[in-house]
Amino acid sequence: MTNSTIKPKIGQCCDCPPGTPDQPITAGRCNSFHYKLHRSKVNAEKNKDKEKAPRTPIPKFSVRRKKENREYLIKRLQFLAQPGNQRCFIEGCNNRADTVEHTAGRWGKNYLDTSTWKPCCNFHNLELEKNSDLSEKYQLSKISGKKKIIKR
Ligand SMILES: [Zn+2]
Ligand SMILES: [Zn+2]
Repeated sequence: MTNSTIKPKIGQCCDCPPGTPDQPITAGRCNSFHYKLHRSKVNAEKNKDKEKAPRTPIPKFSVRRKKENREYLIKRLQFLAQPGNQRCFIEGCNNRADTVEHTAGRWGKNYLDTSTWKPCCNFHNLELEKNSDLSEKYQLSKISGKKKIIKR
């Protein structure tokens, strides 16, 4: 790759008649006319392709996500059925745990990694979303995977 597209270049346009003096060119065409013409043709081609393309092909991502969701529902049931996971993990709360709290976030491998999960009651699940003090205390840092550093 050259950096000819970055620096303005002087030369011969491949679409101008032979004998035309050197002029500022981009990608082998004169800036003043043929390059713009060429771009508009290219863009018209691209738009045609867009119209032809099927509206919304199913991305591979969502297929994988569907599979993960199914796996998650099963793992979640198994997790909440364990004797040690019957009560909310928040100190002083003795509510029945109905949900899973993803202490390290829900993306990537954490989504299905039960070592980052905690049993949680519905109330505290919502509370952890809203209350940043509480979430600082109980959720792992989403960047380091370690306990959050409490800033004062
Ligand atoms: Zn030209
Ligand atoms: Zn609770």
